[in-house]
Amino acid sequence: MSKNILVLPGDGIGPEIVAEAVKVLEKVNADFQLDISIDEALVGGAAYDAAGDPLPEKTLDKARQADAILFGSIGGPKWDAIERDKRPERGLLRLRSSLGLFANLRPAILFPQLASASTLKPEVVSGLDILIVRELTGGIYFGQPRGIREENGERVGFNTDVYSESEIRRIARVAFELAMARDKRLLSVDKANVLEVTELWKEVVDSMSAEYPDVEVSHMYVDNAAMQLVRAPKQFDVIVTGNLFGDILSDEAAMLTGSIGMLPSASLDENRKGLYEPCHGSAPDIAGQGIANPLATILSLAMLMRYSLERGDVADVIEAAVERVLEQGLRTADIMADGCTPVGTQAMGDAVVAAL
Ligand code: NAD
Repeated sequence: MSKNILVLPGDGIGPEIVAEAVKVLEKVNADFQLDISIDEALVGGAAYDAAGDPLPEKTLDKARQADAILFGSIGGPKWDAIERDKRPERGLLRLRSSLGLFANLRPAILFPQLASASTLKPEVVSGLDILIVRELTGGIYFGQPRGIREENGERVGFNTDVYSESEIRRIARVAFELAMARDKRLLSVDKANVLEVTELWKEVVDSMSAEYPDVEVSHMYVDNAAMQLVRAPKQFDVIVTGNLFGDILSDEAAMLTGSIGMLPSASLDENRKGLYEPCHGSAPDIAGQGIANPLATILSLAMLMRYSLERGDVADVIEAAVERVLEQGLRTADIMADGCTPVGTQAMGDAVVAAL
């Protein structure tokens, strides 16, 4: 059955890294006769420049029709001063919420070849394999009321952190099921000692554990979780948390692995249709220089194969090719180490294609 993948390169390094992932996609499409058609559309600042909207209707329509979306990155200083609703980030938030992509999966895996790239001691991080499951369409990033208003002669900024039981239950279910397929340990992160919204979160997660008797459930306050992630990260298997805490903890986990340029992510709806993107942003500081690491985007493509196209076999082949390239000593600048061979974005993409 033919599948349609929508490619949204976005801004900054987005087009450079997505181009390399598309090379990999074209190669596996031919090798495995996947019958995938590839379409492309504008998003973020590029879409604002072309159409005055970071998520044009045409892009949203294509996204709705696609079986999966491969996304680069959006944003940059060029669009920081435009009206808030038109900023690139709003385009991505709208895309996630319009498609109901409520489950954000962020694996933090340390490839053994990169153990020295981490700022932590190799023994603390080598063999690291954790999965952060972040709720993506609720919580404080979407809660109403929100805004900046005048009060007693000064401006006051406010946001609302809100989760319903059903929202908590559906993200917890994803996390429980992923834990079942892994080491069967699930940590729920909250701030239940201060925030009622996370008190409810904790209660709902606990109430579901009877349905998954094989999964060992534990809870941790977010401040402690942030500390434990750098103290002893290997204690964790699957971590589930809300939008705000998940945003911060997943970036922290990203750094455990040495480079944010290595980390893929998936955002799934209830039917496992998904948007796949690297964890990093548009890196305006290195955009256009041909030095960005495309591996996070290529590994995002592997996740796309595994979760949305149910082709774990193809995902395994892509991941093995990435590992082989690292084994060959090829490194982009962000993961460069003594004795390795420095390569740019395109050469790294070509090497992965050759290793497939
Ligand atoms: P960033 O992730 O873009 O960059 C942080 C640092 O990591 C920079 O030094 C950058 O050069 C480096 N880096 C990131 N990706 C890399 C890669 N593939 N290879 C090598 N080095 C890499 O974060 P930022 O600087 O905070 O944000 C820049 C812009 O990206 C902002 O406009 C922000 O809003 C946007 N952003 C977008 C997304 C997204 O598209 N999902 C996510 C985060 C930030």
